[in-house]
Amino acid sequence: MPTTQPRRSSMTGGERFAVRDPATGEIFEDAPDQRPDELDAVVGRAEEAWRGWRADPAARATALLAAADAVEAAGADIAPLLTREQGKPLAESYAEIARTAARLRYFAELAPGPGPQPITDGRPVHGEIRWRPLGPVAAIVPWNFPLQLASAKFAPALAAGNTVVLKPSPFTPLATRLLVSVVSAALPEDVLTVVTGHEPLGARLASHPGIRHVTFTGSVPTGRAVARGAAASLGRVTLELGGNDAAILLEDVDVERIADRLFWAAFRNCGQVCMAVKRVYAPARLHSDVVEALARRAKAAVVGPGLDPGTQLGPVNNAPQLARVEGYTARAVADGARVVTGGHRLDRQGHFYAPTILADVPPDSPVVTEEQFGPVLPVLPYGSLDEAVEAANDTGFGLGGSVWGTDLDRAGAVADRLECGTAWINHHAELSLAQPFAGIKDSGVGVAGGLWGLYGNLRPFVVHRPEAA
Ligand code: NAD
Repeated sequence: MPTTQPRRSSMTGGERFAVRDPATGEIFEDAPDQRPDELDAVVGRAEEAWRGWRADPAARATALLAAADAVEAAGADIAPLLTREQGKPLAESYAEIARTAARLRYFAELAPGPGPQPITDGRPVHGEIRWRPLGPVAAIVPWNFPLQLASAKFAPALAAGNTVVLKPSPFTPLATRLLVSVVSAALPEDVLTVVTGHEPLGARLASHPGIRHVTFTGSVPTGRAVARGAAASLGRVTLELGGNDAAILLEDVDVERIADRLFWAAFRNCGQVCMAVKRVYAPARLHSDVVEALARRAKAAVVGPGLDPGTQLGPVNNAPQLARVEGYTARAVADGARVVTGGHRLDRQGHFYAPTILADVPPDSPVVTEEQFGPVLPVLPYGSLDEAVEAANDTGFGLGGSVWGTDLDRAGAVADRLECGTAWINHHAELSLAQPFAGIKDSGVGVAGGLWGLYGNLRPFVVHRPEAA
């Protein structure tokens, strides 16, 4: 069911689409529904702006630091808007804004980026690499962390000297538009622009001949479509896609000690986190303790509108996603699973779903093999550790995974066997701004984060000499 209907606004005369508050399910605002043909002008201006922006790394760093201050100063305007359209608790909206400002500062400080680097193969230096920006970058992001994911793309791209055209999800266009107006006020015109609207807007942006790098975060099928589109211009593609992260609990785990952390690693942002814990594997001996510890936390979690003080879990962001979550639970039950707690919508207005713990789930039920992306967690028993590692790796995804236990060396040895981009020990889904983030298999292509994120937005330009000068 589409939740965002196009309509004409009397205020602007342009086509607009409705934005719903997931805490009520009702329309509360609208946003411009830009046509794909409007993109030519936007990308053209981004190309023009690039000429000046790429020229002065020191000025870029200064502007990005000013943008970071402006984002912080605008927090009280942006955060409630993000909560209204996304659903998350207000404190989490503020956390997205803080992360955005921190990321702008981090990449401003990495700017002007890697300087000339000598090339040598052991003999005298015979050349150097000078890192150059790529040109206009398209950044396409989903609705779960609209600001954080947008800034993960635009901060390194801008610091590297590129211009950026950003497209948020039609479910969450508003806070992004406000953020871009705040950031871009600190930058030269058209260095960072935002476009909002329905498909084929994103498809057109991903395949636009003026775009030199498409950096996309979203689902696997859309990621494949983006890669196919970008093939037309042979631009660079970075894809951060879905995940089905497993958490393996070891025999020596202290269940009560880790249960809070494990619960929130699965349920934060209502489980709508690419690298959330989406399956738990517990030793058969501890399985019922783990199920019980997680179920207690699920029952105690305060579910409500994100703007209510005290809310810990907001609504699911949109009606199709809620239907998807319900579908996974219904199918698991049909497959023989037991609903330990939750398993239903809350009897109130809005897209609320009770935090759900499932036991006795057959390992081939889709809630185990696919990405539920919602507040539903299957807990599976295992016999031998080899069996657990094999089950954790038996997925088309390869984003993250975690191992939980008391003996850290042993946990580290098990983590080493996980086939994914990031393996955590005794926590999950924590990222430093400085670390590389790269899913394998269907979870992605390319590397984001840290210096690697900066290089992802640069190309090597080599000046080669016959011998050392
Ligand atoms: P989605 O793929 O439906 O949409 C993502 C973005 O792409 C949106 O802006 C959407 O409007 C746009 N889009 C849709 N069709 C397009 C097309 N043909 N060409 C170009 N753009 C198009 O994903 P979603 O439902 O918004 O987000 C949930 C998914 O995102 C989950 O699978 C989740 O795991 C993934 N995700 C991944 C990461 C990560 O870093 N790996 C982070 C967050 C979310």
